[in-house]
Amino acid sequence: MVSLGLEDKVIVVTGGNRGIGKAIVTLLTELGAKVAYTDIEIDDSDSGALAVKADVTDLGSMEAAAREIEEKLGPVYGVVANAGITRDNFFNKLTDADWDAVINVNLKGVNHTIKPFVQGMYDRGAGAIVGISSISGDRGNAGQTNYAATKAAVIGLIKSLAREAARYGVRANAIAPGFINTEMTKFLPDKVKDKITAEIPFRRFGEPEDIAWAVAYLLSPVASSYVSGEVLRVNGAHHT
Ligand code: NDP
Repeated sequence: MVSLGLEDKVIVVTGGNRGIGKAIVTLLTELGAKVAYTDIEIDDSDSGALAVKADVTDLGSMEAAAREIEEKLGPVYGVVANAGITRDNFFNKLTDADWDAVINVNLKGVNHTIKPFVQGMYDRGAGAIVGISSISGDRGNAGQTNYAATKAAVIGLIKSLAREAARYGVRANAIAPGFINTEMTKFLPDKVKDKITAEIPFRRFGEPEDIAWAVAYLLSPVASSYVSGEVLRVNGAHHT
């Protein structure tokens, strides 16, 4: 019997209350990891994971969450910076507030998520970090200049961190999901959805579980021990 080696590993997922984050929490728990998730709202369903209310835009809030998680579950091995938001509009119509909101969650939030854990990982000589980027950061998307800018920035952050962290035995990778069926894409007008679907060679959106399996692979000290600084596209062949 082979295993991904995630049993009893403590793993933190941000934005784990729904969508892709929830699928990641569910799969990692099934794979035997000790999972904690953070979110600004926590629903009371029993996922088998430790749920901690914390806002990624606030470093202090994430530091407090990190203390609680390490006290309750032990030293953290894996971090998944998943929380993200959109404030879509065409560039000429985007407001400064739309830019700030998206930068605060999608970029500063990734920093605030990784920062409280990284020194401990370095000290222990083990750890794996996954940042959730996007197809929009990879190839651009009309109506998403603010969002795409933050998602491209996540790739730069992760690639640079991978170079710094390698000497400590810590890996960092990004995933660029294509269009995935979640609340984030649910409200796209049907006309837009149909147009996007027609462009995807698989002719369908992906499911949150498709991203969860990619996360499990990149966290695995068995399956991806020599993989760092990569961007794994999971998008039904929807490349540039
Ligand atoms: P959802 O909107 O379904 O879920 C996002 C989760 O993040 C929600 O639970 C939300 O909480 C939480 N969240 C939002 N702001 C914060 C915050 N400040 N602090 C903590 N948690 C927060 O999105 P998806 O599951 O679709 O997206 C997950 C990630 O995948 C995001 O980074 C997104 O950009 C990325 N992605 C998604 C794609 C898609 O097609 N769905 C495509 C490519 C990338 P609340 O419910 O309270 O708002």
